[in-house]
Amino acid sequence: MAEASSDVDTAIAGLAVSLRGVTKAYDNGVMALGPLDLDVRRGEFVSLLGPSGCGKSTALRLIAGLAAPTSGTVQLSHHEGGTRPGRSIGFVFQEPTLMPWTSVEENVRLPLRLAAVPAAEADARVNEALARVGLTEFADGYPRELSGGMKMRVSLARALVTDPDILLMDEPFAALDEITRFRLNNDLLALWRHLKKTVIFVTHSVFESVYLSQRVIVMTQRPGRLGAEIGIDAPEPRGEDFRTSAEYAHLCRKVSSALAPSYSGKSAL
Ligand code: ADP
Ligand code: MG
Repeated sequence: MAEASSDVDTAIAGLAVSLRGVTKAYDNGVMALGPLDLDVRRGEFVSLLGPSGCGKSTALRLIAGLAAPTSGTVQLSHHEGGTRPGRSIGFVFQEPTLMPWTSVEENVRLPLRLAAVPAAEADARVNEALARVGLTEFADGYPRELSGGMKMRVSLARALVTDPDILLMDEPFAALDEITRFRLNNDLLALWRHLKKTVIFVTHSVFESVYLSQRVIVMTQRPGRLGAEIGIDAPEPRGEDFRTSAEYAHLCRKVSSALAPSYSGKSAL
């Protein structure tokens, strides 16, 4: 029997996340996802790529435990044996969702306040998270004073401040201009290499998925299932040389053509 039967099995297999036969039907009858099987190794950077409305955000919400699957199982394993649900997952949304009335530092501190982390430890963690995203000197600033890219950095710092094992990112850079997005892509890759987190990154950009990931999961149209799985075997660390390489162009074409069946049946316009 191939199916993992417990969190312990998932941990032994070196997996951070394991979905088996997961479906999600919303109350209004919309069949949003699945059945989806997905394994993500610890420390892996995986992208979920698919057309709008295919269930990508739904999949992340199920992994985060923000919603329950209609059927199937979602299993997570945790590095330190013990499960600390509040701390094991960091979530970054497309909108930075910052509190406008308070400082950058207080925005990043929020998850630690909710977890009642003592002030001295919280101070150290907030400072570290701000330094990781290059925002130390903006700690006392307010969200309205920041550019879109900087707001997203605050959002990333807030997700990292609890030192989660798994980082879930839902089209975090989709609203940013291309230059800012490229810079954040590079900074995210550097963070991933350094912190060794498991990252599940949702995007509808073929180019972004290939640039960032070790593996691209192409989802079908709703209800999202596994359409194709493409390993991105390019050397690390990746930078501008990779972005302009023939290998990158080749991989983007390969992923694009795997995505194409998702759009078949629709007007070419
Ligand atoms: P994606 O992130 O790939 O764009 P979503 O996971 O947001 O897709 O949505 C998948 C489908 O489920 C869509 O058709 C969407 O309209 C529907 N959906 C999402 N959330 C809800 C909800 N809370 N209630 C009903 N339908 C929903
Ligand atoms: Mg979405």
